[in-house]
Parts: sequence; C-alpha cells; structure tokens
Amino acid sequence: MSEKLAIDGGTPVLKRSDYSNWPIITDDDRRFIDEVLDSGIVAGGTAPQVAAFEQEWAGYVGAKHCLTTTSGTAALHMALAAVGVGPGDEIITSAFTFLASASCALHQNAIPMFVDIDPRTYNMDPARLEAAITERTKAIIPVHIQGLPADLDPIMAIARKHNLSVIEDACQAHGAEYRGRKVGSIGDIGAFSLNNFKNLCGGEGGLFVTDSETYLQKGVLVRCFGDEIDEVSHRRVYNASILGYMYRNQELPAALARGQLLHLDEHNAVRIANAEYLSRELGKIPGVIPPHCPPDSKHVYFMYNVRFDPQAAGLDCEPRRFRIAVEKALYKEGVLVGQWQTMPVPAQDIFQSKLGYGGSSYPWSINEAKGIRYDYNVDNFPVAKMLCDTYTVVHGIHAPNGKALMDQIVTAFHKVFGNLDQALAHADAAIYPGADSKLYGAG
Ligand SMILES: *Cc1c(COP(=O)(O)O)cnc(C)c1O
Repeated sequence: MSEKLAIDGGTPVLKRSDYSNWPIITDDDRRFIDEVLDSGIVAGGTAPQVAAFEQEWAGYVGAKHCLTTTSGTAALHMALAAVGVGPGDEIITSAFTFLASASCALHQNAIPMFVDIDPRTYNMDPARLEAAITERTKAIIPVHIQGLPADLDPIMAIARKHNLSVIEDACQAHGAEYRGRKVGSIGDIGAFSLNNFKNLCGGEGGLFVTDSETYLQKGVLVRCFGDEIDEVSHRRVYNASILGYMYRNQELPAALARGQLLHLDEHNAVRIANAEYLSRELGKIPGVIPPHCPPDSKHVYFMYNVRFDPQAAGLDCEPRRFRIAVEKALYKEGVLVGQWQTMPVPAQDIFQSKLGYGGSSYPWSINEAKGIRYDYNVDNFPVAKMLCDTYTVVHGIHAPNGKALMDQIVTAFHKVFGNLDQALAHADAAIYPGADSKLYGAG
C-alpha cells in the first residue's frame, strides 16, 4: 500500500483549517468580563473577581487558601519565598520540565538541582530523588508534566524524612488527580499558570494554593512589596516588613478564568477522550509509543506526546534521526507535530555557563566559594535525554477538536509509517515541524 507522502509531493492528509484553536470563549467569559466593565473596578488584590476566583479555585482543588498572581512563575517564586528559601539553598526539580520550575530558585538566590525522570511517566523519578539531597537542600518542586501527576506519595515521604518543603509545579495540570486528590493541594504549596496555552486560561496569570495559614500570610506579603496591612483599617501601611515583589493580578484575567473554570472539567474530558483514542489507535503502529498513565492517576493531557522507536518499526536507524524524519513527514501531511522542550533543562545555556545575576556566577558562587561544585552534566540525565531525542508533541487534542480530527491524525500516522523509507530520505531536509503561530493551544 505504497502511497506518495506529502513530503514527496503527494496530497497532505490534513489542512490547517481542520484544527480549531484554544481557548474556547463562551458567554460565561463574556458575563464575568461584563461584570468587571460594569463595576468599574479593574484591579486590586481584594477586588471582587479576584476574591471570588481565589475562593472558587481553592474549592475546586480542595485547598484552604488561594492567591492569584501575575504568572505561574510568580506563584513558584512566591512559594519559595514563603517557605523561607534563602541564598545558597538548593531546590530540587525534574530534569524534564519548563525552565520556570528551576529559574524560580535562581530568583530566590537559590540553586536548582535536577533529578532524572521515570521512563514511563516522564515525571521526576522518586527512586533518584534522595541521591540529590544535600545538607543545603530546602525544597523539592515536583512537576506534573504535561498534565500527569508526579508520583507524590514517595516524594512527600522523602521530603518529610529530610524536613524539606514540597512545592507542586501544577502549571500544566489543572484538574489532574493523584490517588483521588487534586494536584496542587497535596504539597505544602501548589503553583498553577493561567497563561493562554494552559488547560485553565486567564490570558496570563497564576495561582498560589496552600492549606497553611503561615504560608498564606507570607504569600500575601511577598505578592505585594512585602508591605504590611493595617489590621484595623485593612489598608496598606507603606512599611515593608520583608522583601516582596509585585505579583498581584487584576480583574480581567480573574474574570476570564472564572468563566473558563465553569468549563474546565468538560474541556479536560475532551482532552482525555481524544488522548485515549489516539493512544489506542497510534499504539497499534509498531514504533509509536503512546504516553503512559498509571491507573491511580487522572491525566489531563495539557500536552499529548508520543515517542518513536525505530527498532520496533523494523528499522536500523539512530533514534533521534528517526524521530526527526517521522516528525517532518507527519508535519508535511498537515499534522501539527513538533517538540516542546528539545533538551533536558540542565542542558540549557544558563546552567552550562552558570552565569546568573548581572552576568556574574551568582548565585552558584555562594556555594562554589566554599568548594562545592555544580556540574550540570547532561549525561547525568540519560532518561530525559532519551525522551528529548525521541518524542514529539501531537498538537490539537484540546476541545473543540474531536474524533474527526483524531481520525485524520491517525490516518496520517499510518500513511507515514507505511512509507518510512520515503520519510527517511528527507531526514535532513530544511523542514521545521511545530505548531504554527496561529494554533494558540499547545496541547
Ligand atoms: C507554564 C509553566 C510555568 C510558568 O507559567 P507562566 O504562567 O507562563 O509563568 C511553570 N512551570 C511549568 C511546568 C509550566 O508549564
């Protein structure tokens, strides 16, 4: 059943117009945004939409307290400040994540450390965690990668044993569940992002979630200049008691996120149905490895990725080259595929150069001056490296895309895998797979 691939001038299986964008705007968004415009109140840490959304999100994840922030990165930084991380402390996160899971440590003058991932879940491997802990370790930031909860029970147990804080980076996992509990509510603090790609969108923004009254109070201070509030008048007193930042969000993102929250479960259900359908169908193709979800987790598929295995496809080809060839051929068939992270985070230039504040070696120099060496050798993260060589993201699994689009994607995969020799002939062609700039949803 040899067919001419689109990469060889054949007809592509999909058109760009077969894809719908993310997020989906509904009348609920319009209603809340109209409330903002009608109220004339556009900002303020205790303004009505912000206050309502904080309560609604705390209720949704089952946490006592929530603070809205300007971004997920801000929420992570606030969390480190709230648990008392200081200069030279070490913070452990996953080697396969977005930069912000690690750069938040640098923002607090602390030093990011990385743990390799589990080859099936792509989340921090708890079996490797203890080896990364030193007397300087202060906190662990497990990341619920691509919407799949990290294995929190062993991570929490190790953290408690060593008296470390756990900050969940739940920026990709709104509504995901670990052993029956919503992520973000399990560690000491949870951080979510509301940027336009994420499962819950406010345009931009973030959420800081905790059960702890102490961390809440610290979070309130850090979020707004470290400025104390008068207990009687509830006004700012313009007397900063601690170092703070300006991480307060405003009414319009909160209003949009409230409207989106009314549809989060329904939209997550679409992602899950699309992902499970793709996994069932693509899993039948030798050489395609769908994502794994442990039975006691609810994966919300912020991103859907597959890995490619040339041997299983019956080819003697270097795995990275095979992935690149298949990715290019799929892309030419009209499938929006392409990589998100192209390397483990510790391989990024900032960690290789260890140049931080003002181009100096600070904050690493705090401990290096005492003879401690930081070596972000990528060979220490072989599983994350293997994943980055062999995976691609299959975009477009979010609502309102459904089975019709998934079927076309499956057809294109069959077409490419039925003609791998043609695909491999173009491995070095100048083709750049990825979501185009008009597909705003990453997942
Ligand atoms: C998106 C994201 C962040 C940062 O969120 P922003 O709101 O863009 O600052 C942090 N960690 C992970 C894993 C993310 O995917």
